[in-house]
Amino acid sequence: MSLRWLVLTLLLMTSMGLQAQPLIGHDIEARLTPAQGTLAVRDTLSLPAGQDEWTFVLHQGLNPQVLAGDAHLETLGSRDDSEVFRLRPQGSGPITLGYSGPLQGELQTAAEGMGRSRQWTRGIISPDGVVLDGNSGWYPHFTDSLQHFSLQVMLPADWTAIAQGAGPNRLATTEGTRVSWHEDQPQDDIYLIAAPFVTYTQPTARGEAQVYLRNPEPELAQRYLDATADYLAFYSDLIGPYPYAKFALVENFWETGYGMPSFTLLGSQVLRLPFILKSSYPHEILHNWWGNSVFIDYETGNWSEGLTAYLADHLFKEREGQGAAYRRDSLQAYADYVGAGEDFPLTTFQGRHGSASQAIGYGKSLMLFHMLRRDLGDAAFRAGLQAFYRENRFRTAGFDQLRIAFEQASGRDLKGYFETWTQRVGAPDLALTEVTLEPVASGFQLRGRLEQTQPEAPFPLTVPLLVHLKDGSQIQERISLDGRATEFLIELPTPPLRLALDPDFDLFRRLAPGENPPSLSRLLGAARGLIVLPTAETEALATGYRQLAESWTKDAPGWEVVKDEALDRLPEDRPVWLLGWRNRFVTALTAQPFGLDPESHRLELSGENLAGDDLSLALVREVAGRPLGLIATLNPAALPGLARKLPHYGKYGYLAFTGSEPSNRLKGQWPAGESRLQVWFTAERPALAPVVAPALAARTTEAQPADRVSGTPSAPVFVTSPVAAPLSPTAAGE
Ligand SMILES: [Zn+2]
Repeated sequence: MSLRWLVLTLLLMTSMGLQAQPLIGHDIEARLTPAQGTLAVRDTLSLPAGQDEWTFVLHQGLNPQVLAGDAHLETLGSRDDSEVFRLRPQGSGPITLGYSGPLQGELQTAAEGMGRSRQWTRGIISPDGVVLDGNSGWYPHFTDSLQHFSLQVMLPADWTAIAQGAGPNRLATTEGTRVSWHEDQPQDDIYLIAAPFVTYTQPTARGEAQVYLRNPEPELAQRYLDATADYLAFYSDLIGPYPYAKFALVENFWETGYGMPSFTLLGSQVLRLPFILKSSYPHEILHNWWGNSVFIDYETGNWSEGLTAYLADHLFKEREGQGAAYRRDSLQAYADYVGAGEDFPLTTFQGRHGSASQAIGYGKSLMLFHMLRRDLGDAAFRAGLQAFYRENRFRTAGFDQLRIAFEQASGRDLKGYFETWTQRVGAPDLALTEVTLEPVASGFQLRGRLEQTQPEAPFPLTVPLLVHLKDGSQIQERISLDGRATEFLIELPTPPLRLALDPDFDLFRRLAPGENPPSLSRLLGAARGLIVLPTAETEALATGYRQLAESWTKDAPGWEVVKDEALDRLPEDRPVWLLGWRNRFVTALTAQPFGLDPESHRLELSGENLAGDDLSLALVREVAGRPLGLIATLNPAALPGLARKLPHYGKYGYLAFTGSEPSNRLKGQWPAGESRLQVWFTAERPALAPVVAPALAARTTEAQPADRVSGTPSAPVFVTSPVAAPLSPTAAGE
């Protein structure tokens, strides 16, 4: 939901604690006229007895009237394009409200940090389609209540409508098509989507799979129908029964990744990206458990994005043996995007509105669940998830309810754990010191000291240590570190090769130098920095670079833009972007050669020799202790696309594009260097096979779900192009 709206909602919520929320019945008959951008509604409300007055929100200008039943209705005022009403029933029995008018809305653009933005609307009725939820005020939205509903919508003949729950029932009439839906279980919102869709369906053991596309595309639809069946089965096994009658993929007419109860609204480009079937799509489906049936108590922090990211985005990477890499990227995003003034505790996370809030509300939050799983073990972790779902389905829940469920499942007191990771800011910074190795009769004694060096108070941690032995075996230990420092002793049967502290990034912590090679996010996430424009380029290139710099800095007041001729030397106290092959300072990058030849516009990397008039490059190196980036091309037409695309490639250290689009041709991360969190005991440093912990299984003996999905060709990318940022905000989030 939009932040602005959230503020209004919070103002209206006088007492939305965790006490039972009133359950309101809506029997809605609606007529949508997309050509005019209008709706007309009759809503018969069943209000629970015992409350004298009710407050609800409706879109401004709809002029609601009491059509049947006995009640007084008055307006309390308005804000933005919403109007707040008070309804006072004068007796028992249903009350019917009628209202009509325009609800055209508009697509708006929200900035999300350097070079990133997304479109959103409070609700729209247009010839392109209809997207309405409680925030748009299309129905009387009682903000401190839950609701169940039945809904009949009259539409143009070739249109169809989607809501959450069971349906659709379609009836062709002389006036158009009448479509009905209903959901009898408590809901925290009522969604209404409509357009001239092509519909595909397939029954599954856990509910009907449905796909709504804007044009016929049976193969694409079939991939989604199959994936839906797989994911519904997998998550039902892992957590508990899927709570709805259907799950639908609905194609939107702008780029979104919204998860609503029993359907997802994905943009046309997003849903055609092959890797979405393994990233955003399971994420949206999983929101039916987290957020769309266990509702979020926003007053105590949105827990659902972290848990959903952990059990979808992270889990499917973990299945591919990429769990540690995913966690390292999460820690790096926290380090790069969350500046000193931008950190906040998870108890105040509402929704993503940029890279910093994403790094906390998704990244730090998923690490909370990962550490918990490592501490409790997979069986207790799974039992905790199941208990949390069982106890809180169709109720509002917060971190407290999660804690209670995991305590029940594990028999452990987790108060301190949850307090630390949901109420504190900051992150532990770890050091490994005083490491000694001593031969003894039984082998070797490895001793050392673990320290927390951050200025903030120590965090309670269980620190994983991994010893690779010369004979090829490994020893893993977990050391409790609740205070500033502790000593450890590990008995080894044979001589060691290397000792490493948390090499799989199992802890939420600050990465040590060397663990995070320079990537674009070091610059994209910096609050301050400098962009240096080239003087010696052609006019078309110079203009393109200037426009890129302007678009990236217009919402980034800590960033300066200067021409290279105005500088004697590059500052070393902040990140710097160099733009242009002919930038005066481009040779600063090659002080330590790495395959870049600015003279011949060439980069040799990963066995590729990249050059040519068609080539665009972006890369970041660490030079003189600060990130130094380069964006260079000979093709001015590629620059607008680079300005748009590069902010979505933050985790990469180098990127090559071709064409004017431009299309990504190569991307990668620089190898991690040596860090102070590892100690070698031999002069040679062979490449060590990673220890890959097993992925979380749905059951103790697991049938691999989603086999068909793993079989689809997919790029191992998480984010490309202007779209695939993990979901975005609705009531239940992305
Ligand atoms: Zn989400």
